[in-house]
Amino acid sequence: MKLNVLVLGAGFGGLELSSLLSEALGNDLDLTLIDKNDFFFLGFSKLDVMFGKKTSDSVRLFYKDIVKPGVRFHQEEILKIDPETRQVITNKGNYHPDILVIALGADYDQAATPGLMEGGNEFYSFEGAERLRSIIPSFTKGHAIIGVTSTPFKCPPAPSEAALLLDEYLISHGLRDNCAISLVMPFNIPIPPSPETSKALLSTFKERGITFIPNRLVIALDPDRKVAILDDKTELPYDLFLGIPKHRVPAVVEASGMTDDGWIPVEYKTLETFYPNVYAIGDVTSVGTAKAGIFSEGAAQTVAAKLIAEFKGGKHPPDYDGAGTCYIEFGRKMVGRVDVDFLSKDTPTGKFFEPSDTLVGEKQHFGTSRKEKWFGLKD
Ligand SMILES: Cc1cc2nc3c(=O)[nH]c(=O)nc-3n(C[C@H](O)[C@H](O)[C@H](O)COP(=O)(O)OP(=O)(O)OC[C@H]3O[C@@H](n4cnc5c(N)ncnc54)[C@H](O)[C@@H]3O)c2cc1C
Repeated sequence: MKLNVLVLGAGFGGLELSSLLSEALGNDLDLTLIDKNDFFFLGFSKLDVMFGKKTSDSVRLFYKDIVKPGVRFHQEEILKIDPETRQVITNKGNYHPDILVIALGADYDQAATPGLMEGGNEFYSFEGAERLRSIIPSFTKGHAIIGVTSTPFKCPPAPSEAALLLDEYLISHGLRDNCAISLVMPFNIPIPPSPETSKALLSTFKERGITFIPNRLVIALDPDRKVAILDDKTELPYDLFLGIPKHRVPAVVEASGMTDDGWIPVEYKTLETFYPNVYAIGDVTSVGTAKAGIFSEGAAQTVAAKLIAEFKGGKHPPDYDGAGTCYIEFGRKMVGRVDVDFLSKDTPTGKFFEPSDTLVGEKQHFGTSRKEKWFGLKD
């Protein structure tokens, strides 16, 4: 008998899980991987696209290139999930797998921040990053705000990276002296689990004239007056607003009744949900890590090891540790790194590695290795 698995969502978590199961089980696997899109992109490629470093076409990885024993990809939209019966309905068919894995990530609710859609921009969606590619060149003077509108949000270093890359962009276009940059964050330091990383970021902000506004959210924009309104009612005038929109589970997940406090609760050691043979991995859960691809991958590795051990009768694999490495763009061709551990100690920790050329290469390898592992494509 084959291991019959349905994976909903072909992002970091879904791709890693499908690859690992295929590698270990080959034709003993009967796995369907579903996504509504026909391509994947790495989260950080949105920063490359918005600042014109790469074209959108060059960062798209097409699911049609996935050729793995036991795995088939279906481009379909998931319309209904019944976790009790493990029945899934899409726009093209019905599924009833033995094992169901939900890896549907986080969606955005731009309308939750009044004025954001009319008077601002967001760079968290692919379309938002693409749009900004043509908007950023029209910012030649004034005040740019990078602002978080709600928590939790994906990739907590990304707002700091956007501020540093905007600084780099403006310098390279001879415009930096005409422009001010502010970063509004809901934390007292940029990366709360890592005081060392935060210290390095704060001193870089200071050196480069970027104003860090801690412990605040942007709750609205007034497009007529061009001001951002913070949660303490402070108003900040802006000429360019780069927002991090409110995150939420995809509507189909909310309608499934699986969420609690907005996200799918899981047994953090195994990623099991409250429903038998239903797992949830990555951004769609409230597992206790930050929302980032590297943690979705780690969760997929834990689920894959458990399913393989159960299928082959091996010994119980280790629990999920919520650990992972994030690379941080410091701009000016420097990349730093933080190794974060969310779950194996009492409080999250983060070890910092100074920005360097070597880490630029490591980050590149992070991208190319996923492209090869998941899509069989070499650079
Ligand atoms: C600007 C930016 C920079 C980032 N940089 C990094 C970084 O450097 N390192 C890092 O680790 N992470 C980074 N991230 C975060 C990372 O992209 C996400 O955390 C990661 O993609 C989450 O993986 P996931 O598998 O949980 O979900 P996702 O990768 O979001 O995958 C979910 C999939 O589900 C699909 N889906 C959703 N609803 C439906 C439906 N109804 N029907 C069918 N399909 C559906 C979506 O199309 C999507 O492909 C960054 C994010 C941003 C925005």
